[in-house]
Amino acid sequence: MADEAHVKDTLGRHLRDLRISVTDRCNLRCGYCMPADVFGPDHAFLPRKEILDYEEIARLARVFAALGTRKLRITGGEPLLRRDLPELIGLLRAVPGIDDIALTTNGLLLPTFARALKQAGLSRVTVSLDSLDDKVFGRMNGKGVGTAPVLKGIDAALEAGLTPLKINMVVKRGENDTEIEAMAQRWRGTGIVLRYIEYMDVGTTNGWRLDDVVPAREIVARVHARWPLESADPNYPGEVAGRWRYADGQGEIGVISSVTNTFCGDCTRARLSARGELFTCLFAGAGHDLKSPLRAGASEAELRALIEGVWQRRADRYSELRNANTAGLPKAEMSYLGG
Ligand code: SAM
Ligand code: SF4
Ligand code: SF4
Repeated sequence: MADEAHVKDTLGRHLRDLRISVTDRCNLRCGYCMPADVFGPDHAFLPRKEILDYEEIARLARVFAALGTRKLRITGGEPLLRRDLPELIGLLRAVPGIDDIALTTNGLLLPTFARALKQAGLSRVTVSLDSLDDKVFGRMNGKGVGTAPVLKGIDAALEAGLTPLKINMVVKRGENDTEIEAMAQRWRGTGIVLRYIEYMDVGTTNGWRLDDVVPAREIVARVHARWPLESADPNYPGEVAGRWRYADGQGEIGVISSVTNTFCGDCTRARLSARGELFTCLFAGAGHDLKSPLRAGASEAELRALIEGVWQRRADRYSELRNANTAGLPKAEMSYLGG
């Protein structure tokens, strides 16, 4: 694709990655994302007709690809709760210019879908797992679900060849920081990359406090004290995770330090909500409606001009500006936006 098609924002950042949220529903209630007391039995999730269908998502993906997007990540909510997800993967696989399609999932439904996802063209998965201790994990996921079904999901993904597989562990002080070393020990030497994620002030319902964040440098120091680490170069410009390699050759870990060491300068990610809004930052209060023009019959050229305009005006760098006052600003929820 011609390079001049590649749109840039006000800070010179390209539009390389698109994260697509396919549902705002989830079968877990992780306290840092969808606290059970807020997302209770009476919570009103998006009605079906409000959510983009697969053809609509694929149409938008084609427009993003024409603007320079190369990587897609399917997320939610829990994306595997969306019916026939492999069908969407197949449609996205056919979009010219897209060379990588990943999925972030809590893993519970992977034993059912891993093989079909792979056959449809999914490249790889990231599975979220915050602890190996059933009690800690059950408390954190708000549903008392143990680790066994997630571990089964990981096995199913490996068997299906959805690799390289990554594991996301959100580290929250006082909840699972005691698990940092145990998780490193469990996954080193397996070919799976464990990524520690600093607890972020996404949304407004999780009661985020800076004191609950375990800084990436503390995480790295703790792992390093047990298994010496060496810093590794990013795999590609704009990679969000800092990479650290085990000096004994047993693989690597990643740390996503979006609170203590920000990376807005390289942020090439756009987000599409299940409702069809374009968000240009994880911490944005509102998105840009793409669904209305899409459903009103906008042409591909019109949609492209719309998205291009939004991206060209983009000036987001929330994490760089974060301070004691920004945590309370209106922001979309993680389960809505998809992380
Ligand atoms: N349900 C899927 C899952 O959990 O993998 C996909 C959606 S989830 C919103 C995407 C990722 O965001 C997960 O790895 C989750 O741990 C992470 N996440 C959610 N809330 C977070 C927060 N407040 N801070 C840091 N990461 C968070
Ligand atoms: Fe669900 Fe994922 Fe949010 Fe946990 S992090 S509540 S699994 S969407
Ligand atoms: Fe990108 Fe916004 Fe995160 Fe900065 S705060 S890295 S602009 S999503």
